[in-house]
Formats: sequence, structure tokens, C-alpha cells
Amino acid sequence: MMHTLTSIQAAQQFAGLTSKWTRLNGHVVSKRWSSSQRPHNVAKRWASSQRPPNLAKRWASSQRPPNLSKRWSSSPNLAGRKSFSALTAFGWREFGGNEAGSVFKSLPCSLAISRRTSAVQAVVATPSPRTDSNADVAKELGFAKIEEQFIEEYKSTAILYRHEDTGAEVISVVNEDENKVFGIVFRTPPKDSKGIPHILEHSVLCGSRKYPLKEPFVELLKGSLHTFLNAFTYPDRTCYPVASTNIKDFYNLVDVYLDAVFHPRCIDEVQTFQQEGWHYELNDPSEDLTLKGVVFNEMKGVYSQPDNVLGRVCQQAVFPENAYSVDSGGDPNAIPDLTFHEFQDFHRKFYHPSNARIWFYGNDDPNERLRIISGYLREFQRNSAAEDSEVKVQKLFSEPKRVVAKFPVGEAGDTKKKHMVCLNWLLSENPLDLQTELALGFLDHLMLGTPASPLRKALLESGLGEALVGGGIEDELLQPQFSVGLKGVSHDDIPRVEELIFSTLRGLIEEGFTDEAVESSMNTIEFSLRENNTGSFPRGLSLMLRSVGKWLYGGDPFEPLKFSQPLAALKARLAAEGTKAVFSPLIQTYILDNQHRVTVELQPDGEKAAQDENFERKRLEQVKASMTEEDLAELARATEELRRRQETPDPPEALKAVPCLSLSDIPKEPISVPNEVGELCGSTILCHDLFTNDVLYTEVVFDLRTVRSDLLPFVPLFCQSLLEMGTKSMDFVQLSQLIGRKTGGISVYPSTSSLRGKVEPSSHIIVRAKAMVSQTADLFSLIRTVLQDVQFEDQQRFKQFVAQSKSRMESRLTGGGHAISASRMDAKINVAGWVSEQMGGLSYLEFLKNLEKRVEEDWPSVKENLDEIRRLVFSKKGALVNLTADAKGLIAAEPHVALLLKSFPETSGAEISNWDIRLPAINEGLVIPTQVNYVGKAANIYESGYKLNGSAYVVSKYIGNSWLWDRVRVSGGAYGGFCDFDSHSGVFSYLSYRDPNLVKTLDNFDGTVQFLRELQLDSDSLTKAIIGTIGDVDSYQLPDAKGYSSMLRYLLGVTDEERKQRREEILSTSLKDFHEFATALEIVKEKGVVVAVASADDIQAANEERPGLLDVKVVL
Ligand SMILES: [Zn+2]
Repeated sequence: MMHTLTSIQAAQQFAGLTSKWTRLNGHVVSKRWSSSQRPHNVAKRWASSQRPPNLAKRWASSQRPPNLSKRWSSSPNLAGRKSFSALTAFGWREFGGNEAGSVFKSLPCSLAISRRTSAVQAVVATPSPRTDSNADVAKELGFAKIEEQFIEEYKSTAILYRHEDTGAEVISVVNEDENKVFGIVFRTPPKDSKGIPHILEHSVLCGSRKYPLKEPFVELLKGSLHTFLNAFTYPDRTCYPVASTNIKDFYNLVDVYLDAVFHPRCIDEVQTFQQEGWHYELNDPSEDLTLKGVVFNEMKGVYSQPDNVLGRVCQQAVFPENAYSVDSGGDPNAIPDLTFHEFQDFHRKFYHPSNARIWFYGNDDPNERLRIISGYLREFQRNSAAEDSEVKVQKLFSEPKRVVAKFPVGEAGDTKKKHMVCLNWLLSENPLDLQTELALGFLDHLMLGTPASPLRKALLESGLGEALVGGGIEDELLQPQFSVGLKGVSHDDIPRVEELIFSTLRGLIEEGFTDEAVESSMNTIEFSLRENNTGSFPRGLSLMLRSVGKWLYGGDPFEPLKFSQPLAALKARLAAEGTKAVFSPLIQTYILDNQHRVTVELQPDGEKAAQDENFERKRLEQVKASMTEEDLAELARATEELRRRQETPDPPEALKAVPCLSLSDIPKEPISVPNEVGELCGSTILCHDLFTNDVLYTEVVFDLRTVRSDLLPFVPLFCQSLLEMGTKSMDFVQLSQLIGRKTGGISVYPSTSSLRGKVEPSSHIIVRAKAMVSQTADLFSLIRTVLQDVQFEDQQRFKQFVAQSKSRMESRLTGGGHAISASRMDAKINVAGWVSEQMGGLSYLEFLKNLEKRVEEDWPSVKENLDEIRRLVFSKKGALVNLTADAKGLIAAEPHVALLLKSFPETSGAEISNWDIRLPAINEGLVIPTQVNYVGKAANIYESGYKLNGSAYVVSKYIGNSWLWDRVRVSGGAYGGFCDFDSHSGVFSYLSYRDPNLVKTLDNFDGTVQFLRELQLDSDSLTKAIIGTIGDVDSYQLPDAKGYSSMLRYLLGVTDEERKQRREEILSTSLKDFHEFATALEIVKEKGVVVAVASADDIQAANEERPGLLDVKVVL
């Protein structure tokens, strides 16, 4: 569970739903993860260095975003792969599949793609770190230097200190990276599943000694320039990281976080515990009792997701004797047993410097870092937390075990083929040596990392199941594990899946891996390590998570940061001994001969959701029955008091305590990205001259609008087929290995957005690829091969793609119903939304269900559809090539781009299709088996005559961080409540996430109009709202993302003049703009379309309360 308190970054990934994610407290589902076609998805666990923020957090508990979890769901890895995590950090995975899927318009607002450049950020000059007499300062402040190392790989000096009085450990990393990172980590192993670590993680950010307001965290969200702001709960630790490129902002964030963890108000006031954890709610003694709480509902959502259930059951079965045998996120059935006293006690015990590991990273003054933390540490004396928080070693079993559990499914569809089976091994009792760890990480990639990897391929091609489960080799907890299995399996086939895993592993021991496979994995891993592309996730944070994975257990915290030497050693071993000698013994010893194996079988249970509901209802009835009249009156009073507290704004003095930048700290100009527009062979070329460390990034873009509307749902599968079908001369394994050997990755996906003022959307197929500049020729030649030579012949593989996509879409419904709701609403309002929904929404799922049969019965016609898309799309007409590299790289690329372009026909001869289609604008209730709801309401505010002004971004962000946060989340008890404004289409949408309510949430959405109309804002609050918006606009981007954003702006017609104008409008936003926006939002209230993804009971109740509100549609 990692929970996080928000993250703007995630927000940015999730271009479509930017601001709303910010308040999800953790479980940010970023667009990339929800994409329906990430072919190389296996991997997120790898992504240690490039994991997007959201990913990171979900981990520890079971809350990873839905599709992220193609392989896994809740095992605890992701965040800090240990030393071999470095090796397994694949840039291309992130890269691949990103932007794909697009349930959401690819680019809802131009703001989402304009970002901050480094140059503009240098608000305060930082002293050159290495010239200070660091040793003296450290000593004076009470820190003993334990070790200093220069990390060549990241051009960084890293020093480990111990604070003498408390034992707190600090790593201070100094380098040139302007994206500064701070994090504090406590070991917090739970003893039960009442969710203490998770509830504390939420609660400490709700006010502290120095910042005595309800939620300083929300104030930071509203008004800081953070590039990362969040918190994560793992099975054994809690992390509080922040990042910013602005030094003043950075130290503000650090101070708020330090005060929060050491002096939170939540341990003195029961109300925060009630709000974030759980409480009984009773408005009137005559009513039924209900259970509320943010974490409580969050975890109900988690427990409604089958992938999460599997991950949790596996972890607990593998570690029956230590802290990992319980759920640090909290079991919704156990959370209501948690007492405030236990909660206070846990904080007292573990949130102590003696149990803290503190991380600083970046180009700020290292002495200042020590000064800031010593200010907090000096109030404490050493305690026993370091020993008390140790995680016990799980002893290895003497014989294998088997566990059977159930998970909730709905009434729709066939449940026979819904079983899951996963084999899990605990690899070792003791820490592994570096070489072994590394080799295991490498082995993992070889076996499972790509569609061509033998174990993955064998399982998927067997036809025994729909998609992989299990995280492969995971080393994020105390002891490493290996797990793999299948879902979508029929009960009778379970033994066959088990046997297939064993026989494949035995085969790999005997035959080893091909040289091509090893070379491909090696290149992929090396490329990714050298590129160190962490996406929007700060590099310093990715290093922290890796380091903590060792540091937390007393290992060498520097080791995971260094990869050159160990990688060279592994290469040398492979060269000298051969791959078989290196890998076969590992499979034999750690997997096949290992008796610590747990086979987990998960059975679909149509009754389970109802049973869970009943369990809760009975419990509440019993509690109520046991209460006296006085008790009930007291509870009603307490409910009222909590509500009053939640709805009373913080006094201005308290708000002033949270430090904030002023408008003069904000650059007046938008970030400019070099963009040269040219022409080559009749196509448009965009060149971005940026330093990329010798990597060439390219996008080759084709107009999708030549495709007939009935073919659109084929497009995602078409894209996957291009990369995973093979050509006449190469099968897909060879093709995939060639891509791995010669490039940093290629991905292909559709991208669609509305164009302002137009009915017809912008819609493209984007081929995104990267390679070292020296590999440019190979890169473009491979792109040509993929687009032109791939044969759509393999019916069986195509069938697998369909099954996998279907499985992914189903997971998405239970885990990300808000995304399904958003795409559905968009599809009812505009053409771009309709197109996207055809390729990634509920319509797509319906298409996939029918397609399975068609592939079986009429493959030639399916094949013809794929060929037809290729004919219609790939021509020079309307094509565009985007290049990002330094000048040398750009020049080197030109002839290869020309060659590629020349290989396409001038035109496909097809006209732009008329896609003027939308779904009927009726309100829908989509029924799924769930304990929590996802509620949405949306309309096009341009239809009310609203004219776009930059202030709209400020106001929308403010609505999300104030009214919706307070009403939908804080008092409503939903995990998230947010809004989104797509400035291209004009669609303004409200959404809730893991929400116990339905009608009440719609009322809260509608209440926004009045809230805005009556709003009074002092100048400080207004400034905060403006700065926070600029923070989103100027979000931190690595060079590839800058080039990509610039291209999207070009495609959507967003000029630099417009960006400048919007920025001025943002900076000059006034209270009047808020009031005027209320009028614009009336159309959503009066005419908005509603889509709720919810349980049958809640939809029925909503229709009883408001007859005819929702058209009921059972989808799962
Ligand atoms: Zn949470």
C-alpha cells in the first residue's frame, strides 16, 4: 500500500485528469498505467529507477493502480528494488505504452504539457557544495560522518552520517541535479491488519505543532512548486518524500514534512484519526449506523480488486511468521477494531529519530540540510525503536504449501474461466551477495521481461489463462521472492499451469538462453541505466527508494547506487562461463530445489461482495443494538461535531503559518523548448535541440482520421500486433530481441484529443522510439520494419492479445472505475471522447468480448481489418517526425528519417473519415462487484458561452483542493474527489474515487456553483492558488518529455503566444474570475451527464431516491 498523499507528477502523467490526482492521497492512477495497451507491461516492478510516482506508492499496500498490475498486484516491490533494481530499471517500459490507451483525451489542456525548464528555475543561486568545510559543520551539529563515496554513475558525492544523540542516519547526496529531493523513512512493521501504518501516514500530514491547521499538506498542494509531494506506506516502512527545483520552496516543504512526522496533532486529537481512519457515523439516533473513514474506504476499494487480493494472499502466505503476514494498509474488516490508543502508541514508538533514515539529494548546500534536521533531532534522545522495529527473518519451509482463497466477481459473464493461480518462492533466509542478486535480476528479465521472454511466452501461448500474475523476482522486502502465475484460468487447468511453469523452468536449466536473448536483455538494461530516465519521477527519489531497500535492513546503502562495476563483472562472467553456467544453477537452487514454495489458488466468488456487505451491516446493527439511548445521542453529537470541524475553514493566522512563495518568485515567461519546424520529403519535421546525453528520441506520427469509425476499436490491437507479430523473415521473438539489442525501445499507440473550436478531433498513431545516437540507422530501419514488414498472420497470438486486453480492461473497471466513467462521459459529449472510448473505454471492452469469437470463427476478416488500417494510416500525407537530441544527433538523424519517409506512399488515397459520432447522452449506472463507487458528472462549458481564460486552470485546481476535497473526501469519506477541465474540448468533469456515496456526491458536485459564488479569498490564498497552478504548468521535465510536449502542442495548435497569454491570465487571476466561473459551471449542474460505476445496491438505492436517475447496465 503505498499510499501517497498526492502527487502532482502523477497528475502530470495523467494528462487527462491532472489536477484531480493530486488529491488522491496516494493512489494515483496515472494514465500510462491505465493504458490499455502497454505491451511490455510486465514490468512495472522493474521500473525502480523510472517508476512514476504513483507506482511507487501503491506498492506497499495493496494499492497499485489497476493495470499497472498486469503481473502483480500487491506485492511489495516496486519501490526500492535493491541493488539489482538498478539493473532492472527499464526506461523503455515507461516509455513504451506511455500515452497509450487513452481513455482520456491525450492532452486535455495545453497547460499540462508546458513545463518548467531548468534555466528558469534558478531562483536562488546555490553555493557550490564541495567547497564548504562540511566536516566541521557536521561535527558542530552533532553528526558523525560514517562514510563518504563518490558515485561515478550519477556524478554524485554521497555521505552517510549518524546523529550522535539519537542514532538517526542521514545520507546527503550532492550533485548538479536541480530537482532536489528530501525524504524521511521510518521502519513501521505492523503487528495486525488494523491499518495503523497507513492511517498514520495519512494523519500526520493533517496538522502539526508549527503548522496548526487542518491539512498543511493540502496547503502545499495548493500553493507550492513541488515536483513531488507524497507519502507511501509499505509493508514494513513509511516514506515521506518531497522534491522541488526551487530552493526556497524545497526548504519550505522539508520543514512542513519534518514537523509533521515528529510533532503531528493527530496523536492528540481523536478527530483526525476518525476522519482518516474510521468512525461510526450517525446523523440522527433513528437512522442506521454507518462506517466512514478515508483509509477505510480506500482499502475497501483495494479489497474489491481481484489483482490486489491475489497479491495480498501471496505475500501473507510466503511470510506467515513476520510482519508481512498482515496488511499494513488495513483490512476493512479489521480497521474498525483499531483504537486511538494503539494508534498513538505506534507513533510514539516508531516515529522517532532513532528509527529514522533521512535522505537529501541535489544541488543545494549540504550544510544547510544538516542545520535543518538538527533543529528537529535535538529535541530527542535515543530510544529503542531501532530494535523494536526490526523485521524478523522468515525461516524457510521444509515443504511446499498450498493456499486457496476467494475473490469477489460480479454476475455478468462466465465465472468458470476466472480462477487465478500463482506460484511463489521465498528465495533465501539471508541476504544474497551482490553478484547473485544481480544475476537474479538479470535472470528475471530474461525469463519474463519482454513478450519474447520464454517463461512469459510459454504461459501466454499455452492458452491456459488470459494474463500473467506475479511480480517475478522481487527484492524490495527483507528477503527476495519469486512469483509467477496466470489469471483467467479454468479450475481444471490449474494443475496444467503449475506443470507448465515447472517444465519451462526445467527446460531453461537444460537449454539456457540464446545469445540474442542475453544480448537483448543486456542492452535494454544498460541503456536504461545510462539514460536514467525516471520520467516525471525525480531521479533523486528513485535513488532514495533503491538505497533504502538495503539501508533499512542494515545493508550498504551505497551499493544499490553503483552499477558499472557489478555489471561489467556479470558481463565478464557470462563471456567466460557462458549463460548456462551462470543462470541454470540459479534456477535450480533458488527455485526448483527450493522447498519454500506456496501455490496460491484464487477462486471467483459471486457471493463474496454481498457477504462483505452483510458482514459490515451485521456488525453495525450489533453495535447499534448494544448502544444505550445516551450513547446514540452522544454519537450523533460527535458526528455533528466532526462535520462542523471538517467544514470550518482554518483561521487565517493558522494558514499563514505554512510558508509560501510570492508571485515575485515566479518566472513571468513560459518555459520555452527549442522547436524548429521543417519539411523533409513532403512531411513535417520538428527538431528540439536539447542535451540528451547522446540519446536520440523520436516520434513518428500518422494521421488516424483516415480510418473508418468501425475500425477504431481494432487500433490498439493493431498497434500491439506491429510490435509483437513478427515479419516474413523474423518471428516476433527475433524482432523483439532485435529491438532490445539495437534500441532503447519502440512503442506504438493511438493518441486523440479535441481541437478547440472544432468538431473533428486530432487523432494520431504515434510511434515512439529511442536509441543511442550511434544506433540511429538501426533505429529508423527497425521503425520501418515494424510499420511495413510485420505480417498479421498469427491467429493464436492475436487471440492472446484480445484475451490480455479484455483482462486488463476488466481490472481497470474494478480498480479505476473513475477512468471508465470519465471516458464514458466524454464519449457522450464530444467526438474525441467517443474515439478514445472506442479504443479504451467500456465500448472497447464490449468490442473485445465479441471479437474473441470472431477471431475464432472468421480470422480472415479480422486480418483484413488489420491490413486495412495499415493501408489507410501509413502514408506521407499528414505524417510528422519529431526529433529530440543535441544538434549533432539531429543532423545525424536526418538522412535516416528521409529514408524512412521515402519508403511510404505519398498518400493512402483515403479521405478524412467523418467521425461525427457520440454516445447517447443518457445518465448511466454501470454495475460492477465493488464495495466502493466511482461517480462522475460532466458537461461542455463552452456551450454555455464561456470563453477560455487562463484563470480557469487556477479556479479548477482550487475547486479540487478545497470544496471537493473537503466535501467528497474529508466529510464524504471518499478516497478522492476531483475535477478536470479540458481546455481543448471545453469538458468540465467532476469525479470521485473509492466513494461510499453516490447521490450525495452528485449533490456535492452541484454545490460547487454556490461555493464559488459565495467564495471569499484573501490575497494570500489567491496567491497560493496561482502559484500552485504555475507549479503544474511548469512541471519538471527531462529532455525527452520536453520534446514530446512541444510536439503535442504543435499538433494541437497551441502557440507560444497563446501560452504566454494564458500564463499572464493565470498570474492575474482575481476573485472575480472565481465568481464568473460559477456561472460557467451552471451548465454542468443543470445539464451535465452522469456516469456512476458502482455496486448494484447503491445504483438501485440512487434510483429509489431519485427515480429515473440512472440507466442500469451490468458490466461485470
Ligand atoms: Zn492511503
